Amino acid sequence: MSETTYHYPQKMGRIILLGMEEVIGKGGKDAILSFAKLGDLTSSAANERTFSFETVSKLQQALEQLYGPRGGRGLALRTGRACFKYGIKEYGSMLGLTEMAFRLLPLPTKLHTGARSFADLFNKHTDQRVRVEETDTHILWHIERCPLCWERKAEEPVCHLAVGLLQEALYWLSGGKVFSVEETACHARGDACCTITIQKTPLT
Ligand SMILES: [Zn+2]
Repeated sequence: MSETTYHYPQKMGRIILLGMEEVIGKGGKDAILSFAKLGDLTSSAANERTFSFETVSKLQQALEQLYGPRGGRGLALRTGRACFKYGIKEYGSMLGLTEMAFRLLPLPTKLHTGARSFADLFNKHTDQRVRVEETDTHILWHIERCPLCWERKAEEPVCHLAVGLLQEALYWLSGGKVFSVEETACHARGDACCTITIQKTPLT
């Protein structure tokens, strides 16, 4: 048995499954669950922190195994984007990101504040740890304890869901602009943590 003791709340696990279902359909999601030998994942109450990092990681791995590395990557990115939409419904008002006062802030302020409150959400409500570092040109989203690649080894970064999630967060935050978002370090590859590097200036 694994000694995993880190978890997401059930609510967040459900958001991942919903996002996955939106992208690959219910049949696809069920195939992933059975391939990864994951049974009923959503039995306990929404706020309980019982959705294990091991499960989150297995879901990602199963996507790659069933759809191939490239196909799985694309689907994980899209799953991440879908997760943001469900996540903002669930957590948006708590984070203060859906209030008009926030919406009216200039983009650099929104990026700065948004990154911090989004990181706080993970740090306070999950066992995932995120540290935000900012330079003049970039935001570095360091996932210091990452569920996506939990106990995995890989040649390339594999936390694509986080990339998709942040892409969609930035799109939403900026009112429809597209940003360069890339995973530049990954724990699964032997890096100290998983780092998603975001260019502060939008591409479009
Ligand atoms: Zn990772």
